[in-house]
Amino acid sequence: MEVDYAVVGAGSSGCVIANRLSADPNTTVALLEAGGRDTNPWIHIPVGYFKTMHNPSVDWCYRTEPDPGLNGRSIDWPRGKVLGGSSSLNGLLYVRGQKEDYDRWRQMGNEGWGWDDVLPLFKRSEDQERGEDEFHGVGGPLSVSNMRIQRPICDAWVAAAQAAGYPFNPDYNGAEQEGVGYFQLTTRNGRRCSAAVAYLKPIRSRSNLNIITNALVTRVVLDGKKATGLVYRDRSGVEQTLKVRREIILSGGAINSPQILMLSGIGDPDHLKENGIEPVHALPGVGKGLQDHLQARLVFKCNEPTLNDEVRSLFNQARIALKYALFRAGPMTMAASLATGFMKTRPDVETPDIQFHVQPWSADSPGEGVHPFSAFTMSVCQLRPESRGELRLNGPDPSKHVKIIPNYLSTDTDCRTIVGGVNIARRIAKQNPLASKISEEFRPTADLSHDDYEGTLDWARSNTTSIYHPTGTCAMGSDDMSVVDAKLNVHGIMNLRVADCSIMPEIVSGNTNAPAIMIGEKASDLINADG
Ligand SMILES: Cc1cc2nc3c(=O)[nH]c(=O)nc-3n(C[C@H](O)[C@H](O)[C@H](O)COP(=O)(O)OP(=O)(O)OC[C@H]3O[C@@H](n4cnc5c(N)ncnc54)[C@H](O)[C@@H]3O)c2cc1C
Repeated sequence: MEVDYAVVGAGSSGCVIANRLSADPNTTVALLEAGGRDTNPWIHIPVGYFKTMHNPSVDWCYRTEPDPGLNGRSIDWPRGKVLGGSSSLNGLLYVRGQKEDYDRWRQMGNEGWGWDDVLPLFKRSEDQERGEDEFHGVGGPLSVSNMRIQRPICDAWVAAAQAAGYPFNPDYNGAEQEGVGYFQLTTRNGRRCSAAVAYLKPIRSRSNLNIITNALVTRVVLDGKKATGLVYRDRSGVEQTLKVRREIILSGGAINSPQILMLSGIGDPDHLKENGIEPVHALPGVGKGLQDHLQARLVFKCNEPTLNDEVRSLFNQARIALKYALFRAGPMTMAASLATGFMKTRPDVETPDIQFHVQPWSADSPGEGVHPFSAFTMSVCQLRPESRGELRLNGPDPSKHVKIIPNYLSTDTDCRTIVGGVNIARRIAKQNPLASKISEEFRPTADLSHDDYEGTLDWARSNTTSIYHPTGTCAMGSDDMSVVDAKLNVHGIMNLRVADCSIMPEIVSGNTNAPAIMIGEKASDLINADG
């Protein structure tokens, strides 16, 4: 088979690119996805992430290496392995980050990536339920909706945060991010709007687009320093070659795009040789620069029922399912969190440096069963961690997972910020109307004093988890450690681009799905302009 363009990975960015490139009927496009079709019904029910996360039929089920910053713990890193990629598994929260994030990317020398450049792309992708305004678009492929359920404990949290001095913000994706309020969701009529639902479903009948599922791309074929094709294993495990006339776009996500580059001989030559791969092109930054959002999950027991109680009995579960089936309403429409807040841990930061995710339920870890008592969760994460980790190959076998070395909490700022976030969470818990609903602090525990910096940091090291936002492993820029230029071309290689969360030169101050979709929109414009 021979095509004009091949897109590797049908995730948040890849689906957008496949759609936009195949809009030209004179162009042939292949979209290769390691996972299968998105037929698992739980993918499309918002609360289904409880069922799809950790399910190897749709999740790569990565785990990190033991991390000294987490007192030697390994933690789960789910990633979508299905049409839609991680947008088919994620918590549905629609967050763009801060305009300053993108202006910083521009300041780093990446022309065309400032806020004024990317805002039109966010708007173009969006079909915002609240209507069109300076910051939001309507009529785009991606439906963005308001929450369909409310829970008193989350409303009490929003009120308590205001009592603690944080202003209400009706739209954190608008003029200002700072403040507290409710999440916007990537849902449509109470169903998940993944990148596949938004960008692939409406165009599946295009004869110039070939979507190949269960196709694990194992390497890029290089003719000298020019990409000319791909090798992939089909659903029977048989190796196939795809010839590509114009360009290959790697959209395998922040873990897999750098892995494919390294398997193709592009990376740090010493590391490649150690792993039995002949270096073709030296790019020492491949797989380096890894950043993620780390969350501290505080749990408070309540003296009134929370969702933990609502879902406990089979009778209630049946009622909830019926409500969803009949009205697309109730807890099954719920995203990973209901309320949020963007705040500063100290006066000397210019913009919010922490984000809250507030959930009317609690569990030992996300994706596990809820606690057998009434409780809710306040998760807090640092928005712009300084700690950077890396990915390392695990030998030359493409089916082996890379080693993930996140290097969490390895700078003083990161340690101070997570402790600052925990302290703000505990201060909000002491404000009414929330305080009167709380019977006991379950995690960390009331025995840990607010002034105990070392104790709180140690608790964070032993209890934090990922919020699943890996980025930065094929960073955009022009320095020695960057992997792609501002047009997303891999430095030194012709006809090869990377477009997904891996290209972020610095992690954005928020959840990463909307930015990944914007990156797909931007990449499409860049490719079409060059085409
Ligand atoms: C459980 C979970 C919850 C999350 N919650 C939220 C949230 O609520 N809000 C938010 O904004 N963000 C959230 N995120 C993060 C967000 O969804 C991701 O950052 C975003 O989807 C990443 O987009 P991407 O295009 O970079 O990669 P992905 O969407 O992960 O896409 C990569 C695709 O490439 C495929 N692929 C990889 N390697 C190969 C190969 N060798 N051959 C062929 N195909 C390959 C993968 O199977 C996958 O489909 C969450 C993520 C997870 C996992």
